[in-house]
Amino acid sequence: MLKCSICKRRNAFYVRRYSGERLCRKCFSESIENKVRAVISKYNMFKFDDRIAVAVSGGKDSINLLHILSKIEKDYPKASICAITVDEGIRGYRDEAIKIAAENCEMLGIDQTVVSFKEIYGYTLDEIVEKTKHKDLTPCAYCGVLRRRALNIAARKAAADKIATAHTLDDEIQTFLLNLFHGDPFRTIRSGPKFTSKNPKLTPRVKPFCEVLERESVLYAYVKGINFQETPCPYAGEALRNDMRIYLNRLEEKHPSIKYTLYRSIEKIREAIASRVEETPLQSCRICGEPTTSSICQACRILNELESK
Ligand code: SF4
Ligand code: ZN
Repeated sequence: MLKCSICKRRNAFYVRRYSGERLCRKCFSESIENKVRAVISKYNMFKFDDRIAVAVSGGKDSINLLHILSKIEKDYPKASICAITVDEGIRGYRDEAIKIAAENCEMLGIDQTVVSFKEIYGYTLDEIVEKTKHKDLTPCAYCGVLRRRALNIAARKAAADKIATAHTLDDEIQTFLLNLFHGDPFRTIRSGPKFTSKNPKLTPRVKPFCEVLERESVLYAYVKGINFQETPCPYAGEALRNDMRIYLNRLEEKHPSIKYTLYRSIEKIREAIASRVEETPLQSCRICGEPTTSSICQACRILNELESK
């Protein structure tokens, strides 16, 4: 049996192809935790006394993030963590995820707030999908806008200083390519590892998992025996994003480390365009008062559209 390239003592169980390392379970999970610590410090994501609201869906990435942040937080006694779970209202899917999220929060001693689309907007996602089924937009397009809004409202209520989401490196590179394919390259500025706005109503967002591969996130959960929801959302993913995921996985298979190379290029592109493009000033939505770049926010536009049905 081959030995771990880091500790040289324990048996290796995983070959990290992009670095050539062979890792034992312990060194592997520590490497993921160290990666998260390094990203937090590289992007200066937190202050020592931040109240961090972790967006916990119940899927592997968000549950892992919750476990790792709660471990890191022990070194910062003035910091605190809470969890926010958004219940979009997806029958037969979300209930199990909420239960798993709640069990993990309880195990870690973290307060969990559940906010639902139904209570905030008056509709579940299932109802929205039913009402909009002849439209071009996918369920994810509605869900994404409304979930971001719900998270921001819940984070403000929880007096959180930051919202931490569990986007992985795979999510980041897919999003970058999607922005390009949708003809909106400048959106990349707002979708980086750390987004802060001058508007106090918009809680800053950070992505401490942005340099962790999705594949290694699954492995981390298995190694640590973390329970997460495995069934995918019935509306799962935009078609284009799925194509991108498959294509990038194939590329990584053939050319290990290509995802990291692409990620580094995106960082450089983001830096270059951020210095040339002015931040769009935010105003208050004429209907709901939430921060937005136009006079009526996207969430209210969606709600208007639903009400006119
Ligand atoms: Fe929402 Fe789409 Fe995610 Fe399902 S897959 S929870 S519809 S964004
Ligand atoms: Zn609005």
